[in-house]
Amino acid sequence: MQFDVIVIGGGPSGLMAAIAAGEQGAKVLLLDKGDKLGRKLAISGGGRCNVTNRLPVDEIIKHIPGNGRFLYSAFSEFSNEDIIAFFEKLGVPLKEEDHGRMFPVSDDAKSVVNQTT
Ligand SMILES: Cc1cc2nc3c(=O)[nH]c(=O)nc-3n(C[C@H](O)[C@H](O)[C@H](O)COP(=O)(O)OP(=O)(O)OC[C@H]3O[C@@H](n4cnc5c(N)ncnc54)[C@H](O)[C@@H]3O)c2cc1C
Repeated sequence: MQFDVIVIGGGPSGLMAAIAAGEQGAKVLLLDKGDKLGRKLAISGGGRCNVTNRLPVDEIIKHIPGNGRFLYSAFSEFSNEDIIAFFEKLGVPLKEEDHGRMFPVSDDAKSVVNQTT
């Protein structure tokens, strides 16, 4: 079998990378050393998964320990608002809580796991 992209590690980073490559039409192989994808994701945010934060990018960067300014270039490519749109498109509606924190409306990290694995 031949693949265009091989992603090693099926945590949130690997899952997003694999989905992004797949969306561009690439034939993707995702490899993980564990026996179940999304195990850590399912316990994140106290089982609710704090998906992202809706504060303005300047505000988020202000709260990064040290100098978070290096994140401007990454956010210009894919921002917190892009993450929100990404999950809404996947069928995982999000809600905003205190300090801009975004969670699935279901209050259940498994709804994120089920749509990304
Ligand atoms: C209790 C807890 C709660 C959290 N809650 C939140 C939250 O609500 N919101 C938030 O944004 N972040 C949260 N985090 C942080 C978040 O989980 C991490 O930032 C995130 O998991 C990092 O993703 P990653 O894909 O980079 O790495 P990981 O999640 O560590 O994934 C790495 C993957 O690579 C695999 N792997 C490793 N080595 C190999 C190998 N040699 N070959 C094949 N596969 C390999 C592992 O099995 C794993 O699946 C939480 C973390 C913890 C511990």
